[in-house]
Amino acid sequence: MLEIQNLTKIYKNVVANSNLSFTVQAGEVAVLLGPNGAGKSTAIKCIAGLLRFQGEIRVCDFPNKSIEAKRNFGYIPEIPSTYENLTVMEHMEFISLAYKVDDWKPKAQGLLVRFEMMDKVDKLGKELSKGMQQKLSICCALIAEPKVVLFDEPFVGLDPHAIKELKDLIGEMRAKGSAVLISTHMLDSIEELWDKAFIMCHGKIAAIRKRSEMEQNGESLEELFFEITEGKEEKA
Ligand code: ATP
Repeated sequence: MLEIQNLTKIYKNVVANSNLSFTVQAGEVAVLLGPNGAGKSTAIKCIAGLLRFQGEIRVCDFPNKSIEAKRNFGYIPEIPSTYENLTVMEHMEFISLAYKVDDWKPKAQGLLVRFEMMDKVDKLGKELSKGMQQKLSICCALIAEPKVVLFDEPFVGLDPHAIKELKDLIGEMRAKGSAVLISTHMLDSIEELWDKAFIMCHGKIAAIRKRSEMEQNGESLEELFFEITEGKEEKA
């Protein structure tokens, strides 16, 4: 569903991503982990089609910058950007029309109820708090029920109710067969969610692990993360 082949991104003389290759299959929740500067945001921006890169990125078998890929793709950036002068409900309508979502209103309401945004439907983008903008950005990305979903640090800035709702939604997307990729620093936040982990370090993928493999080998994601990123196991 999401395939990254030999992704390389060089900013002037900084190699931010070096030959990354990984896949996220239908019904899989994958996490992209790594310390500051490892290259996660760069990879996310390349996958989202916001940067030029070398290599190949395919979404549902289409090149990531094609219209067909974009139809199947939802991206929730770390910093939400809403339209200042559209209301919450107008955002939902606009995105639904752009993505040709059938019977969009009940779907929009369903999402807005889950994120406690129904009392904000007439508020303008510029009148929303940062957390509300983030929740709106999630609702906008998910209304078209994308087959491939990319979240960049989705839990930062959300209140506990929204975090729980988002985790439930990610579980539901997995059950419906979407491929979900989550980039995060917060190992705790994804503990019960992930099926596959990609650990990045110095612009490269240093390890790829399935949860089932780690459970079988008695490995812990946190210990592996510190082994790779600090060259030692975490102390206490
Ligand atoms: P963080 O966890 O701190 O957000 P990250 O893993 O997302 O980090 P990136 O932002 O992808 O890391 O950065 C990877 C490398 O690319 C870093 O060395 C960074 O300094 C460099 N870099 C990122 N953006 C640019 C840019 N626009 N121009 C030049 N170098 C950049």
